[in-house]
Amino acid sequence: MATETTTAEQLDTPSQVRSAVTAFIDEHWDPSASLKDWLGVLADSGWAVPQWPAQWFGKGLTNDLAAVAYDEFKKINAVGPPPGLSRMLAAPTIISHGTDEQRSAYVRRILVGEDAWCQLFSEPGAGSDLASLQTRAELDGDEYVVNGQKVWTSGAMGSDVGMLIARTDPDAVKHAGITYFAIEMDQPGIEVRPLRQITGEAHFAEVFLTDARVSADNIIGGLNNGWNVARTTLANERVGLGGGGSLGFPLSAPGGRRSAQLLEQSVGEFVESQKRAATGGRVPAMMMVRNGEALAKMAKSMGRDQDPAVRQGIARVHALTSLNRWNTLRARAAVEAGGRPGPEASLGKLMVSRITRMSRDVGMEIAGPSGMLAGEDGPLHGALALQFLGAPAPSIYGGSDEVQHNIIGERVLGLPREPDASKDVPFRSLRTGTQSQ
Ligand SMILES: Cc1cc2nc3c(=O)[nH]c(=O)nc-3n(C[C@H](O)[C@H](O)[C@H](O)COP(=O)(O)OP(=O)(O)OC[C@H]3O[C@@H](n4cnc5c(N)ncnc54)[C@H](O)[C@@H]3O)c2cc1C
Repeated sequence: MATETTTAEQLDTPSQVRSAVTAFIDEHWDPSASLKDWLGVLADSGWAVPQWPAQWFGKGLTNDLAAVAYDEFKKINAVGPPPGLSRMLAAPTIISHGTDEQRSAYVRRILVGEDAWCQLFSEPGAGSDLASLQTRAELDGDEYVVNGQKVWTSGAMGSDVGMLIARTDPDAVKHAGITYFAIEMDQPGIEVRPLRQITGEAHFAEVFLTDARVSADNIIGGLNNGWNVARTTLANERVGLGGGGSLGFPLSAPGGRRSAQLLEQSVGEFVESQKRAATGGRVPAMMMVRNGEALAKMAKSMGRDQDPAVRQGIARVHALTSLNRWNTLRARAAVEAGGRPGPEASLGKLMVSRITRMSRDVGMEIAGPSGMLAGEDGPLHGALALQFLGAPAPSIYGGSDEVQHNIIGERVLGLPREPDASKDVPFRSLRTGTQSQ
């Protein structure tokens, strides 16, 4: 059992949760402790992600009760586990499909900031039709040798482990011969080439795998069962990306082996540095102006809050953001009840694409021509211009808008499934991706 549960805690009501968190904070919160030590205590207590299962680093709380716990942590501006794909995708997938050894090792390392993960799914010839992937993994002794190319891998540059899906049986039909691995990124067979975006930043990369090696012990969920495992990752991705009001700590620690030194600093120092960054305006662009409150604040500060068109726009963004938050909580509840989310997760994902575009337009309407200024001199220290340029991204990543429409059409409205002539054909015989040449 991964989580230390010394006494059987009663955590059935908000007041029980509140008292338990307060007692935990009284006993363990120490701003002079290192971030690393604090994250360890948090992970082993089950309070790092209280909505996760009690035996796997959580407390098994409902979303509502987890929100009560996070509210208590907010009161002291507490620092939580590192954010990102490791916690949002890798950990829940391993909890669902991994062995107990994999759960204990990988999930704890994620929560204490030792490993950062990236998602090695998309390929040049496999995006929306992900099951057409061509990267292959071949058994050699007790290891697999991996060859192929991935693309759009977010955060690959700073990642330690990859959620890799690769073809292990080309004679099976395309969904059946895929295996899910946890692959070490720091090895001679893996080359990461950053891709520069329209914003000038490089958040994702191409990843070339040339005779890269991964142990057979690192298979998650069984040989040739990778599609099933990947669906859990994708389901968590839709919920996470569609989550207007996600649950969590007010601050998140840095993570990954490259952050080892940062994790040695004290919790107090880290909190102060985050406060300084926030007052200096250095907050990720997409987080700043994608909700009604932030837009209203911006309109007030620019003297545009009397303009009827601006007010209508802000109210529309606020209404959609609120609706989406409730919808996302329902989708999360389905995942945490042990199942995969239903089509409501696709609605949330679609809604975030729409809210992002709408916020971009309202933000630009508020700022006027100055909204085009990038860099420190621009509105919100240039964040508005970055948001403008980055707004198309949510319509593509985690499954494009069209793919979400297909899911809703088929699973909510009962429309016939899209025809797929390739689904019963062995992968080896398919004309797909670069294999079609
Ligand atoms: C910012 C960003 C970050 C990303 N991060 C990652 C990551 O970390 N890891 C990773 O593995 N991938 C990542 N991706 C890749 C992303 O998942 C793919 O871009 C996405 O799945 C679409 O695939 P594609 O780009 O190959 O487009 P395609 O699948 O080639 O689609 C092209 C166009 O055709 C449409 N289309 C395709 N099929 C259908 C259909 N059946 N019905 C109707 N329309 C259809 C699409 O909607 C799209 O408009 C990221 C992408 C972006 C933009």
